[in-house]
Amino acid sequence: MPAFSVYGLAMVTTSPASSAIPRVGLVSLGCPKALVDSERIVTRLRAEGYQISPDYEGADLVLVNTCGFLDSARDESLDAIGEAIKANGRVIVTGCLGAEPEIIEAAHPSVLAVTGPHQYEQVMAAVHTHLTPPHNPHLDLMPEAGLKLTPRHYAYLKISEGCHNRCSFCIIPKLRGDLVSRPIHHVLTEAEQLVRAGVRELLVISQDTSAYGLDLRYAPQTWKGETYDTRFVDLARGLSSLGVWTRMHYVYPYPHVDQIIPLMAEGLITPYLDIPFQHASPSLLRAMKRPAKQDRVLERIQSWRRDVPDLALRSTFIVGFPGETEADFETLLDFIREAKIDRAGCFKYENVAHADSRDLPGHIDEDIKEARWHRFMQVQADISAERAAAQIGRVQDVIVDAVGETPDSYLARSKADAPEIDGIVHLTSTASLRPGDIVAARITEADHYDLWADDLR
Ligand code: SF4
Repeated sequence: MPAFSVYGLAMVTTSPASSAIPRVGLVSLGCPKALVDSERIVTRLRAEGYQISPDYEGADLVLVNTCGFLDSARDESLDAIGEAIKANGRVIVTGCLGAEPEIIEAAHPSVLAVTGPHQYEQVMAAVHTHLTPPHNPHLDLMPEAGLKLTPRHYAYLKISEGCHNRCSFCIIPKLRGDLVSRPIHHVLTEAEQLVRAGVRELLVISQDTSAYGLDLRYAPQTWKGETYDTRFVDLARGLSSLGVWTRMHYVYPYPHVDQIIPLMAEGLITPYLDIPFQHASPSLLRAMKRPAKQDRVLERIQSWRRDVPDLALRSTFIVGFPGETEADFETLLDFIREAKIDRAGCFKYENVAHADSRDLPGHIDEDIKEARWHRFMQVQADISAERAAAQIGRVQDVIVDAVGETPDSYLARSKADAPEIDGIVHLTSTASLRPGDIVAARITEADHYDLWADDLR
């Protein structure tokens, strides 16, 4: 399930342009997958010689990349479109909500065009129609790895589009279609270009990372003289050769996930797994139509942790799903306690339009959902605090994200922290550090989510 975040116009900056050069503003809403779509669009725009405007006023038109996953995200997308229309007037909409143009056109009839998720050609065609491309694009100014909306030292690596699962609460397959994997040599080549451009941390994303390549029947490809099947385990093997942190998101507990644990034990893949379990009660998981069996999942987590003691587990859960009894909910709490989930996001079930779960019996009252959400968050906060406290005194590698506000202070992350969604390491160092530097630090303090550490040098 995607986290919801906003990357506004100010995230994209360029050198001042002459007024003759057409300028496009971009508002990017939604999950990291949508952010990667925005990066591809920005890269195409710049390759064709468009400038990217850091504000509405300087833009000749504005692209709004929307999210449509939850009703709250749809409302936020419609608000963002309205704001862009008010501030600029010339707006093209793309992204997940673009799969339902009638909703957008009903709310905002003046939008210039609407295209759906990952329809790069259609987005560019709409831009060409409403803003003539310049004649002399400065292609030589384009970095080899394309333009990134994330800081230079980490990058999202999208390995597939769409999803072949049919979870009953989710409309992503309806919005984004079935699984379409990128051939493995394309993904590995992109990853290598990113590393060459200065990226120190790759964040692998998709809707179901462990299903990678299923649609291509795991077709073998050649990369740097070696054969790699288009599958999760070979992807991990290829990425591990690049010598940077590699973080796996949206992994489902299929049996073959066990095969990347040895790569983590050898330090080749970052010991972090983002597994959206969603629930632990077998009957609810069946009602949710979740992929991958979770029968032996606790045993497997224990075995992963035996082999990789530093393994951090992040997950997302839904409380108040139709039919959830108090006993189901207790099963969920027992699961997070036993699995010692390091980081968890919890969502109250939302009755999303067009989701199959709308038709299930036993919808839960909002006040019960609210109470369960608070109980979940309290239990999870205690687990996270206990896990964080156990780090005090240990030495860990941390990656610097930003210079802090006081002298010798930096904002960094440990291998257990993905950017944007997990904790921060408040690092003290007398060295002159830059974003992307990785240093060994001793952990001195911890609260529920964040750590404090001293640079060892
Ligand atoms: S795995 Fe399930 S929740 Fe995730 S995108 Fe696919 S259908 Fe939706």
